[in-house]
Amino acid sequence: MRHLYLNGAWQASASGESIDVVNPATEELIDRVPAGSPADVEAAVAAARAALPMWSATAPAERGKLLAAAADLLHERADQIARIVSTDMGAPYGLATKVQTLMPAGVLASYASLTETYDFDTKRIGSSWVLREPVGVVGAITPWNYPLHQIVCKVGPALAAGCTVVLKPSEVAPLVAFALAGIFDEVGLPPGVLNMVSGHGPVIGEAIAAHPDVDMVSFTGSTRAGRRVAALAAETVKRVALELGGKSASVILPGADLQTAVKATVANAFINSGQTCSAWTRMIVHRDQYDEAVALAAQAAAKYTVGDPFDEGTRLGPLVSAVQRDRVVRYINRGQEEGARLVAGGTDRPLDRGFYVEPTVFAGVEPGMVIEQEEIFGPVLAVIPYTRGEDEAVSIANGTPYGLAGAVWADSEDNAVSVARRLRTGQVAINGGRFNPLAPFGGYKQSGIGRELGEFGLEEYLETKSLQM
Ligand code: NAD
Repeated sequence: MRHLYLNGAWQASASGESIDVVNPATEELIDRVPAGSPADVEAAVAAARAALPMWSATAPAERGKLLAAAADLLHERADQIARIVSTDMGAPYGLATKVQTLMPAGVLASYASLTETYDFDTKRIGSSWVLREPVGVVGAITPWNYPLHQIVCKVGPALAAGCTVVLKPSEVAPLVAFALAGIFDEVGLPPGVLNMVSGHGPVIGEAIAAHPDVDMVSFTGSTRAGRRVAALAAETVKRVALELGGKSASVILPGADLQTAVKATVANAFINSGQTCSAWTRMIVHRDQYDEAVALAAQAAAKYTVGDPFDEGTRLGPLVSAVQRDRVVRYINRGQEEGARLVAGGTDRPLDRGFYVEPTVFAGVEPGMVIEQEEIFGPVLAVIPYTRGEDEAVSIANGTPYGLAGAVWADSEDNAVSVARRLRTGQVAINGGRFNPLAPFGGYKQSGIGRELGEFGLEEYLETKSLQM
C-alpha cells in the first residue's frame, strides 16, 4: 500500500485502512491507497502551518523556480503520467497526454512565470501602500475527472502565492496525485509546503474544511459536496473557492455554420466521456434548423468509437466507475420516461467488460425535464428546440441552477458576443473560440464561487493589506 505525503516524507496513515483503486476499462484492482484519518489531517495541517512562515517569506521568483522544475518533470514524464491517468480514470491515452498531462504542465509553468511578473507589493493608492500576501494554509479538495489538472489549478497558484497546502485528491482516481507529490519532493520543495492525505470525502475533506488552522479551502467537485464544504468552512470564516457542476448550453442562432456548430458541440459534450464540468451538454437550436441539427448530431455521435483507452482508434473511454456508469444509465432511462427521443446511443452495454456507456443523443428535450436540468456527467447530449427567437434561446440557456460555461454560434462575432453577454455563465466560446488555460475559469450561480487559472486564479490565494503612509 502507498503512503501519505506529510512534512516532506512518505508516511503510513494512522488509520491503517485502504481504498481499492480500479481500472475502469478492465474492472481490475490496480492499486491501494491509504484511507486517511482525521489524525492524518492534524499532522498535515500542523506541517503546513509550521512551513508557512518560511515559504511565505521566500522570494516569489524562488518559489517559481521550484514550480518550473516540477512543470519540466511533468513534461519530461508526460507518457508515464498520461498512462497513470488513463489507467486510473479511463481517458483515451491521446487525451490523457494532451489535455490531462501537458495542459496541467503548462498551467504549472504559467504560475512559475507569474511569480516573476505579478505585482505582489508595489501598488500605491494615494497615501496607501497595498500589499498582496498569501492567504495562509490552503486545503485543496479535488475530483477524479481531470485529476492532475484540478490539483494543479489549486496547488500551482497556492504555492506561487506563498501559501502552504494540504491536498486531498479524489479517492476514485488518486494515483496521479501520488506522482505529483513525488515530483515536488524530487525537485526539493521544502518539507511541509505540500502535504497530501488521501481518503474519503466525508472524513478527510470535512476535517480539512472544518479545521481552524486552515485559512482557505478550495474545492472542486459536485455542488452537493461543495455546499457541505462551504457550510463547514463558515464556522471558522474561511475563505472558500468552489468549482462545482454545470449544465452548459451551446446556443446556435440562425445564420450560424450549423455543421461546424453541431460537430463542435457533440465533441465538447463527449470529451472525456462527458465527464467534464464545463461540457456543453445542452444544444439549443431554432425549430427551423432543428431536424437537420438532430440528424447531424446523431451522425457525429455514430463516429465515436468506444473502446480501450490505449487503442488508437478509441474516442470514448469508459466512465470512471460502476457507480458513475449506473448513474448515467439511470438518467438515460429517465430521459426516455420523460418523453425525450433517443437518436443515438442508449442503455445497451457497448462492451462486455469495463464501465462503458454509448455516446447518446436525445432529441425532443423540453426545458424543465430532468435530463435538461441536472448534470449527468456522461456522454449524453440533449438537443432542445426554440421557436420564438434569441430571447427564448437565452432564457433556456439560463434556465438551470448552473452557470459554468457555454457557447454561442452566430453569423458574426458581434452577434455571438451580444448573446454571450446575456448568458449567466463564467465562460463562453464565441463561434468555436478555443479553451484558453490562462483565462479565468469558474461559475456563476450554483456552479461555484471564485475563479481558477492565470492571474485571476492566483489572486484567489492572496490577502490584501493596506499600509497608510
Ligand atoms: P465529489 O463532490 O463527489 O468529490 C469531489 C471531492 O470532494 C473528492 O475529493 C471527494 O472525496 C470530496 N468530497 C466528497 N464529499 C465530501 C464532503 N462531504 N466534504 C468534503 N469533501 C468531500 O465530485 P466528483 O464525483 O469527484 O466529481 C464530479 C463533480 O465535480 C461533478 O459535479 C463536476 O461537475 C464537478 N467538477 C467541477 C469542476 C469545475 O471546475 N467547476 C471541475 C471538475 C469537476
